Amino acid sequence: MRILVIGGGGREHAIAWALKKSDKVKEIYCAPGNAGIAQVAECVPIQVNQFDELIQFACDNSIDLVVVGPDDPLADGIVDAFEAKNIPVFGPRKNAAEIEGSKIFMKNLLKKYNIPTAKYETFTDFETALAYLRQQEAPIVIKADGLAAGKGVTVAATLEEAEQALRSMMVDKVFGESGNQVVIEEFLSGQEMSILAFVDGETVRAMVPAQDHKQVFDNDQGPNTGGMGTYTPLPHVEQSIIDEAIENIIKPTAKAMVSEGRPFRGVLFAGLIMTKDGTKTIEFNARMGDPETQVVLPRLKTDLVDIILAAINGRLDQLDIQWDDQASVCVVLASEGYPASYPKGRVIEGIAAAEAQGALVFHAGTAFKDGEVVTSGGRVLGVVGRGSDIAEARARAYEAISVIKFEGMHCRSDIAMKALR
Ligand code: ATP
Repeated sequence: MRILVIGGGGREHAIAWALKKSDKVKEIYCAPGNAGIAQVAECVPIQVNQFDELIQFACDNSIDLVVVGPDDPLADGIVDAFEAKNIPVFGPRKNAAEIEGSKIFMKNLLKKYNIPTAKYETFTDFETALAYLRQQEAPIVIKADGLAAGKGVTVAATLEEAEQALRSMMVDKVFGESGNQVVIEEFLSGQEMSILAFVDGETVRAMVPAQDHKQVFDNDQGPNTGGMGTYTPLPHVEQSIIDEAIENIIKPTAKAMVSEGRPFRGVLFAGLIMTKDGTKTIEFNARMGDPETQVVLPRLKTDLVDIILAAINGRLDQLDIQWDDQASVCVVLASEGYPASYPKGRVIEGIAAAEAQGALVFHAGTAFKDGEVVTSGGRVLGVVGRGSDIAEARARAYEAISVIKFEGMHCRSDIAMKALR
């Protein structure tokens, strides 16, 4: 098979790496890819929003399967565009990707089908939203309706902070049209967990669970990022809690999407929070998580190509998906200044030495310059250690990191500690 992966981050590196293991795969292309993806796929200089060029490339190169990584092209209908040309493509159509693209759509769906989530109200008018907010208590959560690169959510410790967030979304339009509508949501307290699932409409095949670390600094301090590290499994979370989340949240959501005439085919990602009143939904994403993918896919024993084809063809119920018992821990190495502005073009050393230790090094923001691998994004590398338990996997990830260097590099030192405390 000839496969085209769309995207150029750590998630897509992990997807291309997992696809490469399949003996069904002859060639992998990745648009636009990055310096690490270039080791497992041929990178093609087409951006993820250039649908016409991507379709033309797929036709010219006899692509048998397209796998879409990021949220933006899914929300813009990339799957519908490939389907219109009869090119097999893995990911939800535009009307199903709305579960991530509109928080209001997602919240209303969950309310309609009685699926556990935080209490909320939605607003299209700033003054009405403000009047409502002033009657609430802090902490409280303000969310822009549309996509905002993970920055459209403010967990406000005070009503003043909440008011400021509301104003910047609805009046100052810092997220553009994504802030035309907002959700004001009850604050939930508890540990978070990500469960991703392959879905072919109604059949849900959950992956092993993972936990992300959103804040930039140790002990969950500082501003939110795209994710500073992940690990799996979650030894401190009872299996019954994980099973209940799949039964009570993910399966009913897939079913609800079918009932709404928007069957979801692709990877449905549930961001969950385990509160004292049970597990509740924080968000749904319509694609694999980054950096969850980097720890989950290394545990997959079943051929990823078989799973994707079964999902596309509505045959997931006939497939038994196997995972290994290994632990994996991913630590993200970020550029100086990230998640605020950061420099690019800094030379990265030591990747081969880290790989020689047995670590997986998934590239996120890297590029080639004058024959060297340099930084080209905020999150630069995801270094994955594997072992028989979290402690071993974690130790291996941090050992591997100790040999990687670039100017201004920073990472969290406490990834996966919640599992060990
Ligand atoms: P992502 O980058 O994952 O796409 P997003 O912009 O879609 O993020 P959410 O996942 O909805 O935003 O929220 C981001 C983070 O804010 C969550 O991971 C969680 O830590 C926090 N958060 C969101 N909603 C709540 C809530 N109701 N109570 C407490 N914390 C919350």
